[in-house]
Amino acid sequence: MAVSDPKSVAVVGAGIFGLSLAVALRNKGHKVTVFDRNEYDKTGYDPKSEDAQAASVDLNKIMRASYGTKLHYQRLALESRKAWIACDSERGISDNGDQDGNRLFVNGGMLRVQPTHELGQLEKETLANMERDHIRDTQFANSNPEDRKRAEKLGWVGKLIDFEIPGTEEPARTYGAVLDSLAGFVRCSNACAYWYEIAMTKGVEFRFGPQGAVESLVKTASAAEPGKMKVTGLKTRDGLVHTADTVVVAAGSFSTQILPELSYHLESSAGSLATFKIDPGQQDLWEKYSPENFPVITWRATPREKTGKDTGTIYVLPRTPEGYLKIGYRGIKFTNFQPAPEGTPFTQDGKWSVPLPTAQCKALPQSAVYAIKQFVSIFLPEFEGVPFSTTKLCWYTDSLDNSFVIDYVPDYAEDSVFVCTGGSGHGAKFLPVLGEHAADIFENGDKATTYMRLFWRWRPDVPRGNGLEEGPGGPRDISRA
Ligand SMILES: Cc1cc2nc3c(=O)[nH]c(=O)nc-3n(C[C@H](O)[C@H](O)[C@H](O)COP(=O)(O)OP(=O)(O)OC[C@H]3O[C@@H](n4cnc5c(N)ncnc54)[C@H](O)[C@@H]3O)c2cc1C
Repeated sequence: MAVSDPKSVAVVGAGIFGLSLAVALRNKGHKVTVFDRNEYDKTGYDPKSEDAQAASVDLNKIMRASYGTKLHYQRLALESRKAWIACDSERGISDNGDQDGNRLFVNGGMLRVQPTHELGQLEKETLANMERDHIRDTQFANSNPEDRKRAEKLGWVGKLIDFEIPGTEEPARTYGAVLDSLAGFVRCSNACAYWYEIAMTKGVEFRFGPQGAVESLVKTASAAEPGKMKVTGLKTRDGLVHTADTVVVAAGSFSTQILPELSYHLESSAGSLATFKIDPGQQDLWEKYSPENFPVITWRATPREKTGKDTGTIYVLPRTPEGYLKIGYRGIKFTNFQPAPEGTPFTQDGKWSVPLPTAQCKALPQSAVYAIKQFVSIFLPEFEGVPFSTTKLCWYTDSLDNSFVIDYVPDYAEDSVFVCTGGSGHGAKFLPVLGEHAADIFENGDKATTYMRLFWRWRPDVPRGNGLEEGPGGPRDISRA
């Protein structure tokens, strides 16, 4: 398609992927309508709105550029980091303040705590890549005296915290750790609400609630490509049909249910979230766990397997302005296998993993609770034995290789279906830049110049990894947890 051809585009999903692409397409002159069954115009993406089953609707998510050997994601994260800073500055927030907790990106640092007193393999790879990209001086390893000195000089040393390894003899050993001063967190829900406003200002249209709940795609035989179907629009729960030149599926962990052709490429799995609530009256805790004094902490609870698979990460983010200290466990991302509808192109024993209904997402599996409690006893000792304020399963859209899926679907004629999904647990940080790269692919297909083109392409040739190979009855099956 020539860049000058404006298309009418229907985007399914007003999460981070849908919003980011909608704004970028609108900037390029396309007519864009976004459909979402959640009433974000009323809830403002408030994470307390109980029914919002969307990964993007959350207090905060980690922003980091440390990506091991995946230099393309490191590059994209650094690009996005710049964009977050520019965005906060456009919103009138200076570089050095988090006035009233209003920043979208808080550059409070992230401490990558290792499984033992030494730096693990992935950590060494990350540091080597940062060295190569001339950003090694932004990282501070607790075992490196030079790094400690630099951290002191630059005001980061307070966040280079040494945590004792339980059960080690006097003098106790401490975990190896690297403080990443480029990292921090993004206020995810606030960022979505802001992008929604930007989209509205630019003329993107939105349909929410029953008018936005997509029940099916509308298809017809293509005259231009005989033998293939073409999607001409979508049908919403209120019974209306909306026509579009291209339908974009950006429905996060529900994408396979709208477009079963994604069933080979994606799988929904649950991360476990728990919070403690700190009252401003608890002054010591309020100060200690504030973004000014406490970094994001991630801990690889067990050594990585030989395959490089991440077997046990738990993390905590500094308290929010409302006092929530959020802990996430992704050592096991739980799958929920259910019978797949007839005709689903790819199934495992006739099943696929899809999100549980909202009402069943409030309690965490015992193994997650156990892991989080172990983490709390080491890293948040004041909260040992304190009941959680909230718990929630939050659904990932895992792709077969952990990279996003952003491309036209070749099964459909005339570029009528585009997918923008597969966030795989690391998509939130890219909100300000993802849409531009995706819009390049939308407009130019194989001629797109974005360096992410190859990684995000429709890739039926790639074997199913990233846990998607396990299937029902596997170690992550929630029915066995
Ligand atoms: C537990 C957890 C922790 C994470 N941590 C991080 C992190 O630290 N850093 C990071 O960068 N990323 C993180 N991520 C990943 C990030 O949150 C996701 O990549 C991103 O939010 C995905 O956005 P999305 O728009 O694809 O999906 P979603 O946010 O799920 O949005 C999809 C939208 O589609 C709508 N929808 C679904 N079906 C329909 C339908 N039939 N009709 C209409 N609308 C529909 C939904 O209502 C929803 O609004 C994490 C994810 C999880 C689950």
